[in-house]
Amino acid sequence: MRVLVLFITFALMLPLRAQESLRPAVPVALVGGMLLDGYEAEPIHHGVVVFDAGRITAVGSRHEVDIPDNAVIIDAGGRTIMPGLIDAHVHVDLIGHGEYDDYYAFLGGMERLHEAMPIAAKQMLRAGVTSAVDLGAPFQILEFRERIRRGEIPGPRLTVSGPWITRVEMAGIPDAYEVVISSAEEAGRRTRELIERGSDVIKTWVGLTAADYRAVVEAAHAEGVKVHAHLYDPVAIRAAIDAGVDVFQHVGSARNPPYAEELVLEIAHKSIPVVQTISHRIWVYPATVAFPERLHDPVYKKDLPADFYAEFMRSTENFHRNSYFNDIGREIRNARLSASQFIDAGAYMGVGTDAASPLNMHTEAIWREMSALVDSGMTPIQVISAATKTNAEIIGQIDRLGTLEAGKLADIIVVDGNPLRNVEALDHVELVIKDGAIWYAEEAAFGPVTEIGHGF
Ligand SMILES: [Zn+2]
Repeated sequence: MRVLVLFITFALMLPLRAQESLRPAVPVALVGGMLLDGYEAEPIHHGVVVFDAGRITAVGSRHEVDIPDNAVIIDAGGRTIMPGLIDAHVHVDLIGHGEYDDYYAFLGGMERLHEAMPIAAKQMLRAGVTSAVDLGAPFQILEFRERIRRGEIPGPRLTVSGPWITRVEMAGIPDAYEVVISSAEEAGRRTRELIERGSDVIKTWVGLTAADYRAVVEAAHAEGVKVHAHLYDPVAIRAAIDAGVDVFQHVGSARNPPYAEELVLEIAHKSIPVVQTISHRIWVYPATVAFPERLHDPVYKKDLPADFYAEFMRSTENFHRNSYFNDIGREIRNARLSASQFIDAGAYMGVGTDAASPLNMHTEAIWREMSALVDSGMTPIQVISAATKTNAEIIGQIDRLGTLEAGKLADIIVVDGNPLRNVEALDHVELVIKDGAIWYAEEAAFGPVTEIGHGF
């Protein structure tokens, strides 16, 4: 094992910048773990996955797969091997600060955004998130997305919306976060502009009319771009269904009481992807009440510049008074019924976290969301498949991501424990491989992070 680790170290220490150079120069085989391939299928025991030059070349059980003679072997015995997680709703500019207004004031508007984004990105990657959809940021995120793509910054592969489209200006945030429209004509025109500037998807926020939704969807679809809508209000949901919005974000996450059964059934029957983001607020809040120590995570303290950490901690004092949790009692009462409505109806379920909304830190958001979905009626394998295969379908990249299959990109994580028994085992991601490069390895099992891959 020691020799093998050093071999990888050598391969990865070449001072090159391009993404390819971050990959080991030889095939790598993860051997011996319980393998989940992203499908809702039985696990493969004593599994093997081999990857080379960024692509998966073989997947199967130990006796089925021929491991190339020159492969580096990483012992994944006693662990779970699975596809990298995809988070279908993140905010790479946020760090879990308790109050949005104060956070942006602290950042000086957007002045210190460039310090916040790499922190969020590395925390996501460390948590096993190898791809993510960012739904709302100024266009600085385009350069950031490219820097991740080039391998200069550790982080998930990003699909980004850039600024969102709304009729209601959000207070307390810089103007560059939003496009405020006042007519359907403007909605369509601004959608085209966003796509020209570089939006991978369009995000709509609130206040839009039925005609606005139609104009946005028409303009986006003409360019082959999907529309993700922030939806709580049943009237807006109705308009979004009729307009052909592609992904419903937040529905069923308890801000509203449960919806009329016919509305939920229609969404399920039309197989409209649902990304509920249920853990933000209504699971995170009671978890913090029960264990406020989670706010004192030493890893978090280490990740943040001292003044960021001090400001974060200040924002969490008396968090029950934060505006984000104004209606938390009612939301918690609605939570289970509201979330399970879509699951019980057989909706097409994706997984997204809205990280890092207040106290919903990137370090924990994905496993908390997955655990909340299990609490709401999904089985662990269903949630794992939703966070990998289904999410890859939702972002239109199932041909290259989302499952462990020969030919796909090597986005693989190794987890200490059995997430099929307890999905919260996903809190223990030990190894993160993205694009065939080893980005994160926990010290205990695989050698010091700084020796194997790219410590951060
Ligand atoms: Zn969001």
